[in-house]
Amino acid sequence: MTLPADGHVHSQFSWDAPGGDMVRSCARAVELGVPAVAFTEHVDLTPWTMPGGRVRLGPPLDLTGYRAAIDECRDRFPTLRVLSGVEFSEPHWHAAELRALVAQGFDRVLGSVHSRRIGPDRYVEVGHAYGEVAAAEVVRGYLAEVVRLADTGTDFEVVTHVDYPLRHWPDTAGRCDIGDFEEEFRVALAAVRRSGRVLELNTRRLLHTQLLGWWREAGGRAIAFGSDAHDPDAVARQFRLAAYAAEAHGFRPGPDPVGPWLRA
Ligand SMILES: [Zn+2]
Ligand SMILES: [Zn+2]
Repeated sequence: MTLPADGHVHSQFSWDAPGGDMVRSCARAVELGVPAVAFTEHVDLTPWTMPGGRVRLGPPLDLTGYRAAIDECRDRFPTLRVLSGVEFSEPHWHAAELRALVAQGFDRVLGSVHSRRIGPDRYVEVGHAYGEVAAAEVVRGYLAEVVRLADTGTDFEVVTHVDYPLRHWPDTAGRCDIGDFEEEFRVALAAVRRSGRVLELNTRRLLHTQLLGWWREAGGRAIAFGSDAHDPDAVARQFRLAAYAAEAHGFRPGPDPVGPWLRA
């Protein structure tokens, strides 16, 4: 089986990827037979209140260094398509900044929800929201934010990890089953479908293949695959399993080996 492109990889240019290494990630992709990788580095403009009260902003992306590293990888790995990109947090809250960034030219722009609004001017990272809000409400609030993200006409093509809050589900809240939130997921997926954007199947943690069926039933036509790797060993992790699941749900590689898989 031909593996899909990995459309969501972080390198040393992402602030939360101390083990990131663009060159080694490319080498890993070549070794696995992945046709392309997109280095989608974090751009986080929402100020997070951390536990303890400190407010933290994601550090700016070193675009000059990043571009030089992309060029180096394109030279060193001629058989691999190396795409530039960003993963932009809450694009619907920072539309002007996103537009200015996108104008500088990227192959792949991912739109993500990572934050929860707690008060008028207070935001926390979704993983930290569990300390303040009931667990089920964190998930429902997240999916409602995905609807607002999708319904806003900002410049990004792929909606990432809609199952993100489930990554951080606390043990103290009991067993977590994605099926408990099926209705809310379907509403969010319908919004992504309306927006004409591509849905990402994120393979970093548990593979929620239920999303493929719900996406298909929402009329979704295109899916991207993203390992969300923060170190080279995690590039394309679980991709064979994800590709089989996508096939089973009627998705097939599209005409562009670097592009999304399409509904057959
Ligand atoms: Zn993310
Ligand atoms: Zn990511």
